Amino acid sequence: MIQTEVLVVGAGNAAMCAALAARDAGADVLVLERAPEAERGGNTAFTAGAMRTVYDGAADLAALMPDLSEEEIGRTDFGGYPAEAFYSDMERVTEYRADPDLVEVMVSRSLETLKWMAGKGIRFTPAYGRQAFKVDGRFRFWGGLTVEVVGGGAGLVETEHKIAAEAGAKILYNSRAVSLLADDAGVQGVVAVVDGVTTSIQARAVVLACGGFQANVEWRTRYLGPGWDLAKVRGTRFNTGEGHRMALAAGASAAGHWSGCHAVGWDRNAPEYGDLAVGDGFQKHSYPLGIMVNADGRRFVDEGADFRNYTYAKYGRRILQQPHQFAWQVFDQKVVHLLRDEYRIREVTRAQAATLDELAPRLDGVNPEGFLAEVAAFNAAVQTDVPFDPTVKDGRGTVGLAVQKSNWANPLTEGPFLAFQVTCGVTFTFGGIRITPQAQVVSAEGAVMPGLFACGEIIGGLFYHNYPGGTGLTAGSVFGRVAGTSAAAAAR
Ligand SMILES: Cc1cc2nc3c(=O)[nH]c(=O)nc-3n(C[C@H](O)[C@H](O)[C@H](O)COP(=O)(O)OP(=O)(O)OC[C@H]3O[C@@H](n4cnc5c(N)ncnc54)[C@H](O)[C@@H]3O)c2cc1C
Repeated sequence: MIQTEVLVVGAGNAAMCAALAARDAGADVLVLERAPEAERGGNTAFTAGAMRTVYDGAADLAALMPDLSEEEIGRTDFGGYPAEAFYSDMERVTEYRADPDLVEVMVSRSLETLKWMAGKGIRFTPAYGRQAFKVDGRFRFWGGLTVEVVGGGAGLVETEHKIAAEAGAKILYNSRAVSLLADDAGVQGVVAVVDGVTTSIQARAVVLACGGFQANVEWRTRYLGPGWDLAKVRGTRFNTGEGHRMALAAGASAAGHWSGCHAVGWDRNAPEYGDLAVGDGFQKHSYPLGIMVNADGRRFVDEGADFRNYTYAKYGRRILQQPHQFAWQVFDQKVVHLLRDEYRIREVTRAQAATLDELAPRLDGVNPEGFLAEVAAFNAAVQTDVPFDPTVKDGRGTVGLAVQKSNWANPLTEGPFLAFQVTCGVTFTFGGIRITPQAQVVSAEGAVMPGLFACGEIIGGLFYHNYPGGTGLTAGSVFGRVAGTSAAAAAR
């Protein structure tokens, strides 16, 4: 029998923030990681490390990033992201369903939590490569997402594990929690399979931080619906809803959007699960600069409805709904220099041609006549008298199309034309376990379950329908820290 004060299930960002906070409070901490060490860190390890936080201009960023130079500040328009903007983005993209109490914790503690992480040795930098464009010689940030972790998700996992080990937290790899040990007094630990051996682990408090259920094809089909078995998983293969199952079996209340998930355009030929060597490189997020067509050659979404940060997480579902579950993104030379780095990786499904007539038959699976007619109609509909500016919602849209493009519309006229084939890649599921703002798990009867806490992708109630880019890590850090602090207090 293993014993600890605080047991953390999972070893991604939410888990490690919980472990660090519990150590801050002086509790003994044991972390259980289902994956072997080489694959540790869950979805967190696959991210670019972009983190959405409230900030008030360059001064706040300089406080968070001691490496930020005067020269960088001088050549950059960082703008700001006030709390009101974060609240309104969460309300708008979730169609006013997000739990206001949870949103308040996340937004109001976002900057202080990132500062807490920085104080522990996690380094942040401005996301110049993906969230800023150069305008008149100066970088201008757009879309409320300005901060990323140095070294991306892999760097974040590496640093968090190093700091946690130095702080005295212990970790067991190849250790899968399978059920909660609970009695009338509350949760007392877990049963886990540690290196193939079923083991009881006693704890005064358990923090579930073991992710969503997106890597469980059966649950995906059951909860997200028909067709979701055909989606690819963008990240870890280890997040199969074990935490959801354990908590529900112990009497926890389910919360949030169980038929909803975060899903994006993802290379058509990407593997079934994420590949740590490629990370998030299979995603193709520059569609606002071009058009997306389906097998009929028809456009099916407003590619420029909003900054990509506010549309990408819901457009994976739209791609999944198309015939044969794919789309081609098409760009001309006017915007090729603006495409994100992921368009230049080796593992990419692409087509290229000097003219549209030559491109059409190269778009695997697409009706060429349908495509050519669609592009002709699109090109004729663009309001070319409105200036193009990718750093603002420029209003350069189309007129008179059944599927409008609202911003950043450019006629496809300058070859060579480039096209990239995508399918639906699921990131994480939105349905989860109900928690209080202190990260205590709530029972189906509405009572706090003594000894049980949850944080990260496993919690329900934050995201519905859609998601503002860079919020997953921030939510994980904020609620991870809260859960670790609450669990340590409960363990005393
Ligand atoms: C390709 C990709 C790119 C992304 N980019 C970003 C980004 O730039 N910014 C952003 O904010 N978000 C991003 N996200 C979302 C982000 O990854 C998540 O929101 C966040 O990392 C979730 O953290 P977590 O700790 O809850 O879960 P995870 O990091 O997934 O950790 C879950 C952990 O639980 C473990 N586990 C699962 N089951 C068990 C069990 N039964 N017993 C023990 N351990 C178990 C897993 O092995 C893993 O260690 C991205 C996701 C992907 C896939």
